[in-house]
Amino acid sequence: MATSSPCIVIGDEDQGYDLDLFCVPKHYASDLERVYIPHGLILDRTERLAREIMKDMGGHHVVALCVLKGGYKFFADLLGYMEALNGNSESCSVPMTVEFIRLVSYCDDQSTGEIKVIRGDDLPALTGKHVLIVEDIVDTGKAMKTLLELLKLHNPQIVKVASLLVKRTPRSVGYRPDFVGFEVPDKFVVGYGLDYNEYFRDLKHICVISETGREKYKS
Ligand code: 5GP
Ligand code: MG
Repeated sequence: MATSSPCIVIGDEDQGYDLDLFCVPKHYASDLERVYIPHGLILDRTERLAREIMKDMGGHHVVALCVLKGGYKFFADLLGYMEALNGNSESCSVPMTVEFIRLVSYCDDQSTGEIKVIRGDDLPALTGKHVLIVEDIVDTGKAMKTLLELLKLHNPQIVKVASLLVKRTPRSVGYRPDFVGFEVPDKFVVGYGLDYNEYFRDLKHICVISETGREKYKS
């Protein structure tokens, strides 16, 4: 297993927070059980990740590759913080360019085990580059392993992976990203870009879905 920078570990016994303590959209009020990671904490952790990434990769032009759809919010916030570091540094700053890829592997809350690349036409732009893959969550790690294999075909110079979340699961193939925001228990989480059949991306906190929500939005 590759080494990665330390992260915030959310324990199995951690119950998160009561929904009523936070602002949650009314249309999801009965579809969620608990707030697991509040938006403010996500942003604060992301700001620090941006610093770690710039320290590690900031000597070169960085091509940031967003894994859609789940990674879009983390990608936007992370790059915002990296841009701020670039803008505030008097000694050095690096250009950053962005590319996008879309992977599909989940139906309801289950991995289909088959990873489909829906939009991979930007990959030739990665040849010879320092690439930062930005992902929402690494669960089994199968999707990331598949993506890394695919990228190899385009000969990037360096590839690093930043994932907001990593799940502690016995189903893991042992893959660990270079930069991790939070390690979470083996539960299905939604919000901040992460969906359940396309719902809950419009929720700013990361939450655990309720039985009602699971039934209501099941495919
Ligand atoms: P993996 O191949 O690592 O098992 O999972 C790949 C993808 O499945 C993740 O990038 C993410 O899009 C989706 N996924 C895995 N676990 C969760 C989860 O708890 N919640 C949501 N919304 N998506 C997940
Ligand atoms: Mg994803």
